[in-house]
Amino acid sequence: MIFDNYLHAFLDLFYPRSCLHCKRNLNNSCEFYLCNDCKGQISYLDNTQCIRCGAVPGPYTVLSTKGCSACKGKYLHFDTIVAVAYYEGVMRTLLHAFKYGRQRFLFMMLNDIILQNKKLYDIVPEIDIIVPVPLYWLKNFHRGFNQSELLSKGIQRHFLKPVSINNLYRIRNTSSQTQLSKTQRQVNIHDAFIVKHTKQLRGKKILLVDDVLTTGVTAAECSKKLKEAGVQSVHLLVLAIAIL
Ligand SMILES: [Zn+2]
Ligand SMILES: [Zn+2]
Repeated sequence: MIFDNYLHAFLDLFYPRSCLHCKRNLNNSCEFYLCNDCKGQISYLDNTQCIRCGAVPGPYTVLSTKGCSACKGKYLHFDTIVAVAYYEGVMRTLLHAFKYGRQRFLFMMLNDIILQNKKLYDIVPEIDIIVPVPLYWLKNFHRGFNQSELLSKGIQRHFLKPVSINNLYRIRNTSSQTQLSKTQRQVNIHDAFIVKHTKQLRGKKILLVDDVLTTGVTAAECSKKLKEAGVQSVHLLVLAIAIL
């Protein structure tokens, strides 16, 4: 412990650390990326959202065990969804630093955040294979990693389930989804994915992993391709869900 403190103090001389979100100096503390205040500000979902579409219960959303009034009658392609936190504030900062700031090492912290979710412990033991939402190869090349793949590997290590990489494959680059309307997103993403070896996935229960869910169009398209390949069910896990 004393050695740890000396080591931190020594490293701080050369690598001054500050909180990614509020920029507060973290030297002489045990925190590396986020201060405790910012950590406490992450808004977690409280596991009361709709199991099928992720909607948060409100005056216009009535929940049942099979879904809610918002997703009733809609065909979503995935069977259940677990979302860990809201995509805002500290979580947005973390994911931006991770993906666009190429701070690959943040996956460890993000994995710890995911593993705090209690619903996962009901769902993951039942699944057969973890499948990350793929990036287009050129994007993967530029970024140096696929964020969903790193998050999947954290779940793999914890639950000892296999991960299937590159079987669900992105054949087209899609322009950034964030600036598009929902209809444009659907056209943009249509047929952007294929399953290369259907035999590996046929009859299996899949955990599909993505970092952020906005409209759900990407996750739905991936789930659709997985279902066409004959999987039994698709359970979606997203680290952060956008408030639309
Ligand atoms: Zn902070
Ligand atoms: Zn719903």
